Amino acid sequence: MKIAVSACLMGDNVRYDGSNKRNKELIRLLESHEIVRLCPEAMVFAIPHPPIELQHERVIDSAGYDHTEELEAACKECLKKIEGCDLVILKSRSPSCGSGEIYDGSFSGTLIKGNGLFAALCLSENYQVYTENDLKIIKDVLDRSL
Ligand code: SF4
Repeated sequence: MKIAVSACLMGDNVRYDGSNKRNKELIRLLESHEIVRLCPEAMVFAIPHPPIELQHERVIDSAGYDHTEELEAACKECLKKIEGCDLVILKSRSPSCGSGEIYDGSFSGTLIKGNGLFAALCLSENYQVYTENDLKIIKDVLDRSL
């Protein structure tokens, strides 16, 4: 299968603080599949950069600056990159990649229901979107594809 994956889950140091969220178990599951890595935020921001969150559908950094238009444009570019992918696996809770829950924009670690900008775009295009918290489901989907 051809699978789009958040670059930070694959171990790329693209997070706001220059770190990654490498997920060994996910990487092992994906070993024999074609991977398309993506990171909308790395297309917009230098690394490291201040953290961002969604506030009423606007992309705001911790200093109060609005980056909505730039990040929306990057997400659209990423959507082109993943054309033809069978699955999309994104980092949970991110303002770009989060699916189902995201931080509430207060930079206090509070979660609310919602999707990051890129996840929402993928869902609107009917991609199957999972996070690193769905490893069992992902394994079942991959097993069925064999
Ligand atoms: S969650 Fe998405 S936007 Fe954030 S660092 Fe990972 S790949 Fe990039």
